[in-house]
Amino acid sequence: MPPEELIGRVASSVESDAQAIQDFFVRMLKINAVNPRMGGPGERERADFLEGFLKDNGLEVTRVDVKDSEAPGGSRPSISAKLNGKDGRRNLWYVSHMDTVPEGSRDLWKTDPFEPTIKEGKIFARGAEDNGQSLVSSLFALLTLKKLDLHLPFNVGVWFVADEEFASNFGIKELLKRRLFRPSDLVVVPDSGSPRGTDIEIAEKGLLWMKVTTRGKQVHASLPKKGLNAHRVGMRLALALDEQLNGTYRNRNKLFDYPVSSFEPTKKEANVGNVNTVPGLDVFYFDCRVLPTYSLDDVEGDVRKTIKQFEKKYHASIKFEEVEKEPAGPATKKDSEVAVLLERAVSRVAGVKPRFVGIGGQTVGNLFRKEGIPTAVWSTVDDVPHEPNEYSKIANLINDTKVFAAVPLLY
Ligand SMILES: [Zn+2]
Repeated sequence: MPPEELIGRVASSVESDAQAIQDFFVRMLKINAVNPRMGGPGERERADFLEGFLKDNGLEVTRVDVKDSEAPGGSRPSISAKLNGKDGRRNLWYVSHMDTVPEGSRDLWKTDPFEPTIKEGKIFARGAEDNGQSLVSSLFALLTLKKLDLHLPFNVGVWFVADEEFASNFGIKELLKRRLFRPSDLVVVPDSGSPRGTDIEIAEKGLLWMKVTTRGKQVHASLPKKGLNAHRVGMRLALALDEQLNGTYRNRNKLFDYPVSSFEPTKKEANVGNVNTVPGLDVFYFDCRVLPTYSLDDVEGDVRKTIKQFEKKYHASIKFEEVEKEPAGPATKKDSEVAVLLERAVSRVAGVKPRFVGIGGQTVGNLFRKEGIPTAVWSTVDDVPHEPNEYSKIANLINDTKVFAAVPLLY
């Protein structure tokens, strides 16, 4: 069957199921799945619900429960199901996450965040965009392929994982450790996107959060020579690092909207409570987002060198700490199978001209890339995750379902 015809069959099948897809989405969003590290009940009830639904639809379910003594029930579930294709050694995986962040201040919500409300073609609820829409789209893409009984070139499956909103320790990181994904797999992470569905993300920057603590000697401000003003040393150091890093790491990469690495002094801890005291302690932070061509170790090495020089010059003791360090995996190639197939599906089904992009934030896509697994990040969203009145557009829910179903048919 020619691809146009296949896509047509997929599209009309999804259209005729549109109400059922929407109803299922609403049922799922009613189940609170706030990450337990953020005070919520976790993924268990939502996972049970999804597992039951997959089984009711005749799919075999793989369930991985990772021990977590701090979570209700003592473990964190991730679940998966797939359809078999011609090449049974390769898998196309859609990987989305079940957990959400908390609703935040209820006053800011116009509706109950756990009572999904439909208004003007949008479904409002916590987790509607992040990551509920894509979870449901990929699930129904799978069910559409099953129902139409189409020839698949390789296995096609979904993973619904735990713990993305905290650190993925009980989700993707554990699944990767257990070797449930292979470098020959094609992975789509639909957990970031653009309002028209044009952006296919294939690269992310490395992330480094630095904390720098300067210790001097606290004295009365009328006798500054008796002490050592840690605030002054800290300010000078922060400015020196700002110039040094932004001046050294200047490569550009047009794939990224912000095409250079960024090194931003951000958080500053409060020091003394009164104006007439010379501070003996100064703490500042930098947020660094580094193009994948550079090594975070090199950045850190440069910072440590400058700190050493400042210690000598000012006779202060200065401590460097990594608060967070997540190197970038290699960018997924534009001509990798997953990128090419997704590009085809987006242009033919969604009818937009896709472009490849890199982002400064990080998704679990980076964790796959670090394991050498080509990964594309895509969805059609208005980009309102974690906000009050978070929503998903029903048109996007349905269109993305068609796109996900079309990807393996365009091989
Ligand atoms: Zn997410």
